[in-house]
Amino acid sequence: MPKFIFVVGGVMSGVGKGAACASIGRILQSRGFVVTALKIDPYINVDAGTMNPVEHGEVFVTVDGDETDQDIGNYERFLDIDITSVNYMTTGRVYRTVIEKERNLEYGGKTVEVVPHVPEEVIRRIKAAQRRAKADFTMIEIGGTVGEYQNVLFLEAARMMRLEHPKDVLVILVSYLPIPSKTGEMKTKPTQYAVRTLNSAGIQPDLILARAERPLDEPRRRKLSVFCNVSEDSVISAPDVDSIYQIPVNFEGEDLGGTILRKFGLRSRKRDLKDWARFVRGIKSVSKPVRIGIVGKYFSTGSFTLADSYLSVIEALKHASWKLGLKPELTWLNAEEYENDSRKLKELSKYDGILIPGGFGSRGVEGKIKAVRYCREKKIPYFGLCYGMQLATIEFARHVAGLRGANTEEVDPKTPHPVIHIMPGQEAIVREKKYGGSMRLGEYPCILAQSTVSRRAYAAPDIKERHRHRYEVNNAYRERLREAGLVFAGTSPDGLLVEIVELKDHPFFVGVQFHPEFRSRPLRPHPLFLAFIKACARRKKK
Ligand code: GLN
Repeated sequence: MPKFIFVVGGVMSGVGKGAACASIGRILQSRGFVVTALKIDPYINVDAGTMNPVEHGEVFVTVDGDETDQDIGNYERFLDIDITSVNYMTTGRVYRTVIEKERNLEYGGKTVEVVPHVPEEVIRRIKAAQRRAKADFTMIEIGGTVGEYQNVLFLEAARMMRLEHPKDVLVILVSYLPIPSKTGEMKTKPTQYAVRTLNSAGIQPDLILARAERPLDEPRRRKLSVFCNVSEDSVISAPDVDSIYQIPVNFEGEDLGGTILRKFGLRSRKRDLKDWARFVRGIKSVSKPVRIGIVGKYFSTGSFTLADSYLSVIEALKHASWKLGLKPELTWLNAEEYENDSRKLKELSKYDGILIPGGFGSRGVEGKIKAVRYCREKKIPYFGLCYGMQLATIEFARHVAGLRGANTEEVDPKTPHPVIHIMPGQEAIVREKKYGGSMRLGEYPCILAQSTVSRRAYAAPDIKERHRHRYEVNNAYRERLREAGLVFAGTSPDGLLVEIVELKDHPFFVGVQFHPEFRSRPLRPHPLFLAFIKACARRKKK
């Protein structure tokens, strides 16, 4: 019988519930079990695609084209598996299905009610994800914090599932223990309240992960045990870490894997966290810096959200740097600052490489184009992802191919040279304002041209990468751009869609229409990110 582990949050959000959930999955995997992980987001949005990344963090795109929460990215990175749309649900998605079923008479004339029909649909989805992955363990992270109104129906689903399969369901509370600076003493009371609140939803947690700045001491472990009604070995210390990749190793230090298996009456099939532990030691040992500037626009609310807006890009840069024994130093550069003050562009020379990630709309675009030009002319390694590729194409069109006023239709629908134009079929979508889930999304094949940087990096003639865009390189301009020296290094198999552009006679200048960052894994960095960081390291040496 498959096992299900719900992970819920106590006291406050943002304490690393997703990383904890992914880490627990990883340790169960290392003990020989098949693991999958689901994320439940308690908002009405059907997916994360319509949300501003500054508010919600990055939109993570799955192989099958779902626009999901960044935690799905953590699951993919920690578990080294591809996760599909069945593993992601939101309140909006669940209600939509229930209402559709009602319209199709699938409830056979019954009154359709919030309880039990909504939690039943949640459970149906959880079980479908388990079946699809043939998982021994299914991790289910319930977004939000215990005690808020929004996620009650998901807690209800956990309660109902446990009632149905008492031996196969565990609930883990990831709770926060504040240490007020004046007293310096770690407080357990908020967690006690969180457990009571969970109790009033009919759920007793089986384990408590005590998230805090510092490790948990013995008196507090006992206190949490007695007041929260869990055994002492079920209270796990989870202090802050320098790198989230350390968490599985720390958890195993507390024998969390063993405790979970004992609760289910199971034994480890093997124990193999060696590769992961070696990787974590590697992270700690790197000291030689590689300095990357990321030119973007999502800067409005401070560094916390900023890092979240580009999470997979950051992780991919880290994976590649660590693999090469380098310490990544990432700096955020605000594209808008280059728009009025070209002198500021000089700061780009301080970096070993510049990356422009995906983006939408016109804010900051001219600044990004200036940054691309600077990198092209000054021979600074440049890596453009999605919008970063489109803007590099525009820059080349304007300043090398002599196409004055070249632009993307996204920014200037009346441009004399729409070198980037809307994809066939997308016009009607935009006209009818059917924005949700309607971009070119998910994995598509790409053929790589001989003797290109990309072909050498991938060491393969064809690849598959994930996409999220409405605009593309306009084929009407391909010949002119090629004649001027732009290399089309990757296209769709029918040749109709440009997927990669490159420049010759440059240390590294690659723009990709897709999002390679979603495929980078800690132990298997992405080949293009590796090639980029290698080029950065060479520049550094010089
Ligand atoms: N805005 C561009 C498009 O829709 C690029 C999208 C992106 O960078 N993800 O094509």
